[in-house]
Amino acid sequence: MNKVCAIFGGSRGIGKAVAELLAQKGCRLAIIARNLEVAQTTAHHLGEGHLALSCDVSREQDVQNTFEEMRRNLGPINYLVNAAGINRDGLLLRTKTEDMISQIHTNLLGTMLTCKAAVKCMIQQQGGAIVNIGSIVGIKGNSGQSVYGASKAGLVGFSRSLAKEVANKKIRVNVVAPGFVHTEMTAHLEEDQLKKTIPLGRFGEPHEVAQAVVFLLESPYVTGSILIVDGGLQLLT
Ligand code: NDP
Repeated sequence: MNKVCAIFGGSRGIGKAVAELLAQKGCRLAIIARNLEVAQTTAHHLGEGHLALSCDVSREQDVQNTFEEMRRNLGPINYLVNAAGINRDGLLLRTKTEDMISQIHTNLLGTMLTCKAAVKCMIQQQGGAIVNIGSIVGIKGNSGQSVYGASKAGLVGFSRSLAKEVANKKIRVNVVAPGFVHTEMTAHLEEDQLKKTIPLGRFGEPHEVAQAVVFLLESPYVTGSILIVDGGLQLLT
């Protein structure tokens, strides 16, 4: 396939599963996260020719440096996947302002910054594809996740607007909205209780979300879509 793909949050969890699938298809990847050591381990495990970079997506200068490094080492990117994300769950009345800011800055501002840098590069290349990882919480809402849900709902409005803005440049922008997936982010949850609420009766696996991400990256006539990958959670009232 020989495409170049930047995966923010590619060092573990859903982003790492996307990296594994794209590496199998012959893509050259940039694995990007704050912790360089973990990103390097992931890039190494994928095989030769991949790059590991440290970047905090919420910092504009970091993002600019990262795109410069990718251009120098891998050439212009064809695909961008935004899987970097954090949650600081809790009732709104107990949520500290700094935790509101960090979730919005990482999940929403970070995605805006990487998309801005990627779009600039993709316009020069006359095309590209972006997938942003949202959440079913950004669509359905969830008690204890109002700020996280706002960041993910914002990501949908951002992605669909950007999809309209850049369609005439042959750049596609889509969202994958997962439900509960086995990663570090969900490791502390009461799985036995929660899985009773999921129509398919189980949490998802990172590779099951990765399949949806890669489908959207490769689907030339899909843009502005939200693909829900949640075991049927969205079916519940
Ligand atoms: P993990 O916690 O397993 O992985 C998060 C990744 O993001 C890591 O690579 C982490 O690396 C990176 N990251 C976090 N903050 C930053 C930052 N400021 N700058 C750069 N990289 C950062 O999470 P998941 O794989 O579970 O989540 C991936 C995405 O999917 C997130 O957006 C999450 O909100 C979303 N999601 C997850 C669900 C789930 O059930 N797991 C459900 C719905 C949505 P490092 O810490 O080194 O920076």
